[in-house]
Amino acid sequence: MEIQRNHSTTIERYVSPLPQVEEIAPAAIQLRPASFDDYPGQTHAKENLKIFVAAAKNRGQPLDHVILHGPPGLGKTTLAHIIANELSVPFHSTTGPSLDKPGDLAGLLAGLEPSALLFIDEIHRLPIQVEEVLYSAMENFSLDVVVGQGPTARSVTIPLAPFTLVGATTRLSSLSRPFLSRFGIQEKLDFYEVEALEQILVRGAGLLGIQLGAGGARELALSSRGTPRVALRLLRRVWDFAEVLHAGIIDDRVVREGLQRLDIDSQGLDRMDRDILTMMHARYQGGPVGIDALAITLGEERSTIEEVYEPFLVYCGYVSRSARGRLLTEKGLAYLQTSQNGEPLDMKI
Ligand code: ADP
Repeated sequence: MEIQRNHSTTIERYVSPLPQVEEIAPAAIQLRPASFDDYPGQTHAKENLKIFVAAAKNRGQPLDHVILHGPPGLGKTTLAHIIANELSVPFHSTTGPSLDKPGDLAGLLAGLEPSALLFIDEIHRLPIQVEEVLYSAMENFSLDVVVGQGPTARSVTIPLAPFTLVGATTRLSSLSRPFLSRFGIQEKLDFYEVEALEQILVRGAGLLGIQLGAGGARELALSSRGTPRVALRLLRRVWDFAEVLHAGIIDDRVVREGLQRLDIDSQGLDRMDRDILTMMHARYQGGPVGIDALAITLGEERSTIEEVYEPFLVYCGYVSRSARGRLLTEKGLAYLQTSQNGEPLDMKI
């Protein structure tokens, strides 16, 4: 069956919301907005955070701990940087999976400057023993450490400088209740409106010296899956086409041609998205199909389907979740039937 490819190369998709190597280049770091005013979109979360930051500054106290949740590429890490900048406090960053021993976290916390911001990305992947060390650190700014072994073992409390923990997660539901309850501030990030993405693209193009016309910005924004990371990546790729094949200016025509070459349609859906929808239709008669069955058939990790592909398909209204599994909606079927680039629906499975 043609569509049963192995898609474990997720990271290579042009529309992947996951970071790729280009994002660590100096130019990309310079693209990261440094203040709330430079950060378009996410009005709800941003306005709340502005107030919490201003209140903490007025009181001269560290900001309460923050959890930012939502699909990848929407600006959680960027917001954490902005919070530190706006508070004028040092920023330290780590990830859940890299803190595999309680001692690693204890060392990190003990070394923080007063009021520093510690950002933990993928915080849902912290091992439970490490998470438990965080409980007293978050609540009382202290560490409970067991010294010695056997009958002579005793618990020692080590005071820490007050700090703010900012955690980011794509899976809020994976965090335990006791952990979640220790975050005084919880903000959800949603897919961006087209206008906000246009602003991000125009700003990014300005910083990178790219000639991006209004039509080009609009067309790119429409195809960026509501995700700034995807928007900025498509901007770079379309820039290549514009420089080599055209006079360097990106207008709507250049964008359309570039996206066609990248096999991305005008809504930002690529072959993998179309494969998922086609699979649901052709093999599972539109569902309900369990996420595990879908993952096996597509040769992908369950978590990748859940956290990377599915959120945008649900956001488009093409897939819905039910207690019995995932369903291809009527809108999803209509999309498949009109998709110029889709696989034929009458294929043999
Ligand atoms: P996340 O942590 O949610 O995966 P990031 O904060 O790493 O996302 O953002 C991904 C990319 O998109 C970065 O290059 C970042 O600079 C850019 N970005 C995200 N949100 C915005 C925004 N509101 N304005 C401008 N650029 C943004």
